[in-house]
Amino acid sequence: MHRRIMAPGALAAASLMLAIPASAATPSPGAPGIGDPYYPAYGNGGYDVSHYDLRLKYQPATDELEGTATLLARTTQDLSRFNLDFLLDVSEVRVNGAKASFVTSGEHELEITPKAPLAKGTAITVVVRYRGVPSSKEAYGGFTSWHRTPDGGAAANEPEAAWWWFPSNDHPLDKATFDVSVQVPDGTQAISNGTLQSTSSRLGWTRYNWRSDKPQATYLATLAVGRFDVTTGTSESGIPVINAYSKDLGDKAGAAKASIERTGEIADWLSEYFGPYPYNALGGYVPNTDTGYALETQTRPYYSPRNFANGSNTNIVVHELAHQWYGDLVSVKGWKDIWINEGFARYAQWLWSEHEGEGTAQEIADYVYASRAADDAFWQVRPGDPGPENQFHLAVYDRGALTLQALRNEIGDDAFFAILKGWPQKYAHGNASVADFQRYAEEVSRKPLAALFGTWLFQPSKPGAAAARAASVAKVAGVPVQPKSWKKIAATNDVHEHEHKRDHEHEHER
Ligand SMILES: [Zn+2]
Repeated sequence: MHRRIMAPGALAAASLMLAIPASAATPSPGAPGIGDPYYPAYGNGGYDVSHYDLRLKYQPATDELEGTATLLARTTQDLSRFNLDFLLDVSEVRVNGAKASFVTSGEHELEITPKAPLAKGTAITVVVRYRGVPSSKEAYGGFTSWHRTPDGGAAANEPEAAWWWFPSNDHPLDKATFDVSVQVPDGTQAISNGTLQSTSSRLGWTRYNWRSDKPQATYLATLAVGRFDVTTGTSESGIPVINAYSKDLGDKAGAAKASIERTGEIADWLSEYFGPYPYNALGGYVPNTDTGYALETQTRPYYSPRNFANGSNTNIVVHELAHQWYGDLVSVKGWKDIWINEGFARYAQWLWSEHEGEGTAQEIADYVYASRAADDAFWQVRPGDPGPENQFHLAVYDRGALTLQALRNEIGDDAFFAILKGWPQKYAHGNASVADFQRYAEEVSRKPLAALFGTWLFQPSKPGAAAARAASVAKVAGVPVQPKSWKKIAATNDVHEHEHKRDHEHEHER
């Protein structure tokens, strides 16, 4: 796969340098990664994408996907060459209308050399024609984010899902708007994010045109093709809802619908804590996959049938919808900041438990602290910087939410809930880090919080009795009674991100 050849454009770049004023930097290749220490090859340097237009055709019988991706971007340096992250087979690339040369390199890199170097600040239109069978493309020796189903397939995973269906700058730091247009055989549906603008049928094929008009991270873009029961409605607050359920959910169909049909109600409930729902579309979808996890794909979370194996599961819906604010609206700066996604989505489940009368957040915090002994490996994971191998470790969730209860007790309910609501607005449609959150919490509460965050997010051992007393997260002596909601919350985790591919993948990457 490592076909690193001297691109023909390199010569063109050399000759054109003469035409560039001496003061200008020499055009150079964009970095093959955006600079995330957890995943050095993810994303790319040298440009910023503002919009993806994906015009695709998919044949469920053979899993063949073909089409054209048109990316609108702007260069952020004098650029001789740049990369996209992609796995399918590319037949042609054009940059601003002119054919560009390209090679594949590394595990998922598409290196593009435009005819002439691009000056910093240039608006570029990149057109990539491609085709392929997504299920035939594996990364890291066996791991895939394309979930083939008997009636189609679905792309959903974290932190990478785009490589299997569109070329991108695959990192949350480069968000963009999306138009996703997919042609599928009549009787089959194509589900994606945002609003269904229109559908049209011709010669046995139906085209679905989806639009996400607010910035979206690439891993939050999703595509599912299959035979779905689609329901539509409107939340009480006026947001249109589109849900889709595979026709093959069997005895899980009732439980899935009983949970996901409450999406509008749950989003409205969450907005009381997090502020107005940030998008103009809502929903959820359940393809006939068998993954262990669900995912907060923007406006329309992906759920696995396994989430509904034991009956209805509003807990998972609360978790994925909480991410619409914590994760999607405000995204991580780097993957080490995963706590600002998972700690808060978990805490939303604790608030839901309180709402349902199944145990207060305080009771759950007391239980988490007391039920795990000091020698439990759980406490060695630092939620504030867990390492890529532990990005989706249970501690990021449970110890992460425990941190929020400790913060709440330290600064009081008024400041705490002001922060929960203010944060999504402060960084709306952008990115933020754990350090940004600490700074913001200190600003709002007017309290120094370095010691609290240091203890609960960064200490590689169980916070001691004095710290627990100070944070009031061990209010009861011994191990308290297990909160009623505990098993349900724990179950969403079993199937949530636990089997997240990181486990297999990372060994390979190191
Ligand atoms: Zn999550």
